[in-house]
Amino acid sequence: MPKKTGVALRAEPTVKVSTRGVTRLEARHPWVYRSDIVEEKQIAPGSVVRVFDQRGKFLGTALYSSSSQIAIRMISHGSVDDLAALVAERIRAAIAYRKTFVSNANAYRVIFSEADFLPGLIVDRYDDVLTLQILTQAFDRASVRETVVQTLAEELHPEGIVERVDPRIRELEQLPARESGLVQGEKSSTVIRMNGETTTIGDDGAGVRFHYDAFEGQKTGAFLDQRENYAAAAEYAHGEALDTFCYQGGFALHLARKCENVTGVDSSRPALEMAEKNALLNGREVEWIEANAFDLLRDYAAANRRYDTIVLDPPAFAKTKRDLEKALRGYKELNLRAMKMLRPGGILITCSCSFHVGQEDFTKVLS
Ligand code: SAH
Repeated sequence: MPKKTGVALRAEPTVKVSTRGVTRLEARHPWVYRSDIVEEKQIAPGSVVRVFDQRGKFLGTALYSSSSQIAIRMISHGSVDDLAALVAERIRAAIAYRKTFVSNANAYRVIFSEADFLPGLIVDRYDDVLTLQILTQAFDRASVRETVVQTLAEELHPEGIVERVDPRIRELEQLPARESGLVQGEKSSTVIRMNGETTTIGDDGAGVRFHYDAFEGQKTGAFLDQRENYAAAAEYAHGEALDTFCYQGGFALHLARKCENVTGVDSSRPALEMAEKNALLNGREVEWIEANAFDLLRDYAAANRRYDTIVLDPPAFAKTKRDLEKALRGYKELNLRAMKMLRPGGILITCSCSFHVGQEDFTKVLS
């Protein structure tokens, strides 16, 4: 076989990027928008492309999408001869990186797309079940899929790998429709644990446990990004606790390790049914109330109910930038009400998952 060196042997298509696009790449942004592509020639969806500036200077290698406004996503500032080998190597690196700082949990995000230099791939681990999301044409190519599944299986030995499909994303990427389903193994539900090794009475040190089912639940089915906040909340929590917007009991079950009694409130019955199963799994007693949390807080405040610990973790108030003012008013009202319901020395744990509400805005509202 001839050695794969020299420009003449490279079969990959090329794109040329505008000055504005080059500036972004030089600042190490991994994307170039379609409007900043000045030259592209009949590139197949999901191709590996070589990237140049307008004068022909080589900038690196990217994955191409024929439909997204994000035309290319960089994968290397050098050349890439073997995409499958590179993907496998990056997956192994992402797994090794997690090992350096995730402890006390067997559920966490293993691969987070651009942040792990794997643009278009998200993998979460729920103990022995992995979930996979594919967001770009390049990662949907059969050879790349195969590499992803095989490498994950070799490195993490899961009992099941479930692909979770977002039909809207496949449509936007002009990929053929696909159902969510097992892509390897048999197992799609399991029990996860997190935040173990406390010395709390009644705790076996293995942490708080949750049922997980890859085919149910919101988004990826558990709010893994709150894991460290659950632990922090439990550290300060005491007395009587109220967890509003409790979903499947993430905060409530952590608070139950420290508090005399805990009430969880959510408007979703299926979420509360799972929350009760989780309580049983942990040998905890929590009172679950199916209600509109806004109404309940208003009623409880009017009735002079008091708590020592209150959690507020509502859904996003500002889904778009235009909603910002209204969202800030909403946060103010909700937090003010909760603060008034706290006993002296009480603790408020408050969250915002509104993309358009920055930390500074949120802190200002709270103060
Ligand atoms: N704290 C949770 C995540 C909360 S997600 C955890 O850590 O797992 C937001 C939750 O708010 C969802 O479970 C949703 O069912 C609930 N919700 C949305 N609107 C509500 C309302 N008006 N009253 C009560 N709950 C609501």
